[in-house]
Amino acid sequence: MAIPLTDLKAQYRSIKGEIDAAIQRVVREGQFILGPEVKAFEEEMAAYCGTRFAIGVASGTDALHLALLACGIKPDDEVITTPFTFIAAAEVIARCHATPVFVDIDPRTYNLNPEQIELKITPRTKAIIPVHLYGQPANMAPILKIGKKHNLKIIEDCAQSLGAEYQGEKTGSIGNTGCLSFFPAKNLGAYGDGGMVVTNDPGIAEVVDILRKHGSKTSYYHLLPGFNSRLDAMQAAILRVKLKHLDEWNALRHRLTSLYTRLLSQIDGIEPPYVEEHNKPSGNYYTIRLKDSRLNRNGLRKHLEAEDIETAIYYPLSLHLQEVYKSLGYKPGDFPQSEQAQEQVLSLPMYPELSQGQVEEVAAAISAYYSAKHRRPVA
Ligand SMILES: *Cc1c(COP(=O)(O)O)cnc(C)c1O
Repeated sequence: MAIPLTDLKAQYRSIKGEIDAAIQRVVREGQFILGPEVKAFEEEMAAYCGTRFAIGVASGTDALHLALLACGIKPDDEVITTPFTFIAAAEVIARCHATPVFVDIDPRTYNLNPEQIELKITPRTKAIIPVHLYGQPANMAPILKIGKKHNLKIIEDCAQSLGAEYQGEKTGSIGNTGCLSFFPAKNLGAYGDGGMVVTNDPGIAEVVDILRKHGSKTSYYHLLPGFNSRLDAMQAAILRVKLKHLDEWNALRHRLTSLYTRLLSQIDGIEPPYVEEHNKPSGNYYTIRLKDSRLNRNGLRKHLEAEDIETAIYYPLSLHLQEVYKSLGYKPGDFPQSEQAQEQVLSLPMYPELSQGQVEEVAAAISAYYSAKHRRPVA
């Protein structure tokens, strides 16, 4: 049987009664924009993340955009972030007419390397966006220290890390603000787009709330140039059902992650994800590194595809090398760790409903490919 990268239908089957009832409730109540469902979900999420405030917005990308504006990012400012991630953070920095400034990653965690951040700080630097990639928290202590020293805002990109903990604290509650995504494939996924800004800072919370509603506090009286960026009531109702299952689902991801790692660490040339001691990852993606350059990633992917096993590359091209950022003037070789990661990473099927037998099947298929290749001398 096929093993997809993620299986949203299996999840729906497991909670169908609750989801259908929540959708019915919203339709019956007839309040679709903000209102009680969104408010209740915001309160539940603030409690879950351990923050004072949570503001529902239209997507994770919008969460980052509004958070940057609420942190006071202005044209010509610089914001430091990682080149090895989904484009959203860099994209919204540019949307603020500020400049994304990239810093290379730590090759073990794929997250921003704090040791290289200070080299990139200028008088124009205003913020740092660490991304908790694949659900593993970035190394926050040194990042917070640098932020404090240089008076920079720390905006956490928690799109992949909901439920993850750094030194016992939930991601999103550590910096000035955290940005969540409810894109369907995230650990807490809506049936459409959705996002959220969490923060302990009442000033940031208030500005994000104003920005998402056309820049107004009271309808038709506009204080700021705003947006239409609200979380749907329908999505909030669905997410409230799913939030009750999130910890149990994340625990299943942990169990599958351990099993994958136990099986794959026996294969030469494969590096399973490294987890820093003080981290509890969310398990959003299970991403291995193919260390053996004689073995080709596309070959392995094709082999797995033939066995009906889906894989993905997150992400195949570092942001500093993207066409859209050509004008920033970066070139190949600028961020060697990010560029090596883009050639070597491979994400395997990972979702709570995946069975242990399926994980064993994936590991066996990878093992078979490697032993077949190793038997022949490779030029
Ligand atoms: C998914 C994702 C986003 C964007 O979230 P959307 O809800 O799709 O806008 C931002 N950053 C990272 C790292 C992501 O994985």
